[in-house]
Amino acid sequence: MPDDCIFCKIVAGELPSERVDEDEHTVSFMDINPWTRGHALVIPREHSTNLYDVAQDELRHTAVAAQRLALKMRDGLGCAGVNLLNSCEAAAWQTVFHFHVHVIPRYSDDPLRLPGSPLAVEPEDLAAVAALLRG
Ligand code: AMP
Ligand code: ZN
Repeated sequence: MPDDCIFCKIVAGELPSERVDEDEHTVSFMDINPWTRGHALVIPREHSTNLYDVAQDELRHTAVAAQRLALKMRDGLGCAGVNLLNSCEAAAWQTVFHFHVHVIPRYSDDPLRLPGSPLAVEPEDLAAVAALLRG
């Protein structure tokens, strides 16, 4: 593990966290700066930087743990919905460089709003980008 990774330290118990779920592969704990009541993070125990390099099995385990947590939020917190959020690289708002998924319970009166609005694009623009992605 990198010496300076705070999430590895949380996994190792070297930094405090408010754990809410764990299994062989993942740990889930409360986000220290929650966007809504119950906002939590799911991380693989194994260090990776982000979506680009996380191993596929760790990604699967993280997704399953996030679903388990979403159901706990629905049933235990009475939230009206859940957002999953992952930020990959600083340009996409990543601030902690150990792969993680935010599990954010939503309430009808919470303060969160969509961070963007749709771009105006022509069908040929979509087709050009799609061609790049198809490779
Ligand atoms: P991101 O900005 O997507 O990389 O998410 C990092 C998240 O980790 C932020 O929402 C922080 O509030 C949260 N965070 C940072 N340090 C801690 C910590 N020690 N315990 C719990 N959450 C943390
Ligand atoms: Zn780490």
